[in-house]
Amino acid sequence: MHPPPAAIVPLDRILPDEPLLMMGAGPVPIPSRVAAANSLVINHLGDAMSKVVEQVKTMSRYVFQSESRRIMGVAGPGSAAMEMAICNLVEPGTRVLSVRNGLFSSRLAEMAGRVGGEVSVLAVPAVETADPGAIHAALSQGRHEVMTIVQGETSNTVWNRHLPEIAAIAREHGCLVVVDAVCTLSTMPMQMDAWGVDAVITGGQKGLSSIPGVSLIAFSERAWEHLEKRRAPMAHWCLDARLADRFWNQKSYHYTAPVSGLLALHEALRLICEETLPARFRRHRLCSAALQAGIEAMGLTLYAPPAVRLDSVVGINVPAGVSGEAVRRHMSDVHRVEISGAFGLDILRIGQMGEQSRAHHLFRTLHALGSSMKTAGARIDLPAGVAELERVLVSGQAA
Ligand SMILES: *Cc1c(COP(=O)(O)O)cnc(C)c1O
Repeated sequence: MHPPPAAIVPLDRILPDEPLLMMGAGPVPIPSRVAAANSLVINHLGDAMSKVVEQVKTMSRYVFQSESRRIMGVAGPGSAAMEMAICNLVEPGTRVLSVRNGLFSSRLAEMAGRVGGEVSVLAVPAVETADPGAIHAALSQGRHEVMTIVQGETSNTVWNRHLPEIAAIAREHGCLVVVDAVCTLSTMPMQMDAWGVDAVITGGQKGLSSIPGVSLIAFSERAWEHLEKRRAPMAHWCLDARLADRFWNQKSYHYTAPVSGLLALHEALRLICEETLPARFRRHRLCSAALQAGIEAMGLTLYAPPAVRLDSVVGINVPAGVSGEAVRRHMSDVHRVEISGAFGLDILRIGQMGEQSRAHHLFRTLHALGSSMKTAGARIDLPAGVAELERVLVSGQAA
């Protein structure tokens, strides 16, 4: 028998006494009700769970702005929900147009290729938004059955602002529209039914301000008919939408649902319904606009131009001669605020998703950023930045 491992320390010796303020590109802070729900374990097939599931579906319909009867939770990260959309709707030979802005939209293309889809990638130039004209041209060239696109590309902070028009163009071409709304859902408008979207994907730990690892997906009736007609067998068992439907719509067993995570998601959705979407969108718009204005007033520049800039994740150029890593480390060690770097770009990213969009978090984060930038050698006017943050928040007006 192997001996038990030596030198394992309990969590309280690994974790700080007070959690760091999570202001990166996710996971984001969770409300205390979400955390409390996440600490419970209940019977995954009992009456209480069945009520919870019904309410999760009802509240999700509001959040997705959809009458979809195929909204399901997924035990897995946002990427598992992406994979669930792809592996059910794409089979060997399915022609897929993948609109690529960056890391996450490439992931959808890669997933479609892995299940045998014939993928053409439409690459959107850096810091540009997907262009409806280019998509129209690409769809006119070949018969595509599925189009994948991200609403907000978290990796480079670009917003595909023409999504409604793009979805309409795809529909005209008889193409199913798969939208990754992981960082955007419930932070900005996403109207699944009105825009004619066929699959919407989200994760827990971003816009919804729930825990990581439990996600949501919604299919339109059109998408459901398409996947029911597929000929190729499903290689994925856990992600098979028709099997998942047994749990989500037929009160039966698929796999043991992540009950704690679903209870957490229930509370996160309930808080969204209580706040209402219009008020939540206003809060995110105002907080992100105030943060952006404060960062610029401090003397820093933002990565994405205003016309394509995502509110949910703000990208900040690292000034010449400054180490972005050193800034992040200083922010964590001294100010106890965590933000993100980027995959391959010399930018820092601050999230504005769910609980991150609160005035008190913004002041602490902006101060930590300015002070740490200064320490790292950047020329920063910290008081000007904080004053501008205050001014925009108090005015209540986002430009
Ligand atoms: C974070 C993110 C994902 C992936 O979510 P995971 O939970 O990390 O798998 C996918 N798409 C977008 C737009 C994201 O921001």
